[in-house]
Amino acid sequence: MNIPLLDLKAQFAPMRAEIMAAVNDVFESQYFILGPQVAAFEKECAAYTGAPHALGVSSGTDALVLALMALGIGPGDEVITTPYTFFATAGSVARLGATPVFVDIDPRTYNMDVSKIAAAITPRTKAIMPVHLYGQCVDMDPVLALARTHKLFVIEDAAQAIGARYKDKQAGTLGTVGCFSFFPSKNLGGAGDGGLVTTADAALFEKMKQMRMHGMEPKYYHAVIGGNFRLDALQAAVLRVKLNYLNAWHEGRRRNAANYDAAFAGCAAIVTPKVRPDCYMIYNQYVIRVPQRDTVLAALKAATIGSEVYYPVALHQQKCFAYLGHAAGAFPESERAARETLALPIYPELTDEQLHYVAETGLTAVR
Ligand SMILES: *Cc1c(COP(=O)(O)O)cnc(C)c1O
Repeated sequence: MNIPLLDLKAQFAPMRAEIMAAVNDVFESQYFILGPQVAAFEKECAAYTGAPHALGVSSGTDALVLALMALGIGPGDEVITTPYTFFATAGSVARLGATPVFVDIDPRTYNMDVSKIAAAITPRTKAIMPVHLYGQCVDMDPVLALARTHKLFVIEDAAQAIGARYKDKQAGTLGTVGCFSFFPSKNLGGAGDGGLVTTADAALFEKMKQMRMHGMEPKYYHAVIGGNFRLDALQAAVLRVKLNYLNAWHEGRRRNAANYDAAFAGCAAIVTPKVRPDCYMIYNQYVIRVPQRDTVLAALKAATIGSEVYYPVALHQQKCFAYLGHAAGAFPESERAARETLALPIYPELTDEQLHYVAETGLTAVR
């Protein structure tokens, strides 16, 4: 059995006609930049997430960059985030000349340990950037309380978390601004790059909208400097079709996660992901902790089962962030997660038979 980490062909097959019709409509219209498809998709994303305003952008990375730019974050400013995330989180902060300030993670959820944020706040702190890793929300109440007390922005990196919930609210609607990615491997993936920002702040929304198109308002007049952060109409058209399936896909992933949890329940060597009771997790990844990680990786590879390490090097140990001056051991839980975890196939089209083959392969490897 050959089981990929993610099977996008299996996702595409049942909706081929719908997707191709949507793509065809865009070609017939020859309307490729913003326009009605993007506007409709933004409206649908606002309705889906419950955010008052949503703006389609060119990628999840650009969503973060645009949010930071619109909030005026730059040289001399600090942004508190996690070192255990995809590079773009801290990369976007550093690209604007600000300093990413890391706090370690909770070893059970892999999300930032919110009890460590207060000690990281300085007079230069401008924002907290929680990452809802693998599709589970950060424990946001303490984050929001600190932000209120210290007058900080909260920029949610919800790239992996569209549709995830914390209590009664969705990821990306809890803080000042929410940033989403439609990279093809996310739960809602486009036919290429795409992203979204959401906010309840009407003035911030207008500013991000202006900055999405070089700060241009009206045409060829630039009061502020922005960039080209636009979402393609083709991407919006594809994403509009896929958005209709998103909740069913979340449920499929959750069913698979429950099956893995049950399969690994009796095995002390495999630690399954912990989900907070107040969170609805969408399992962008199903990540297990196995001290003999490399043995399991080799066994999965030998059985032609896809797996991946998210992430093998914590950000404070990346070469490009050496200037931040963090020694090995600075964020021990992030470093341990980088050594001990791996992701298993969790995509909704995975069959029970395939899932049990993956689970058995893992269990045999640690026995
Ligand atoms: C995917 C991802 C991003 C970046 O999104 P792109 O669309 O690939 O630019 C940012 N942060 C996290 C946590 C991600 O997983």
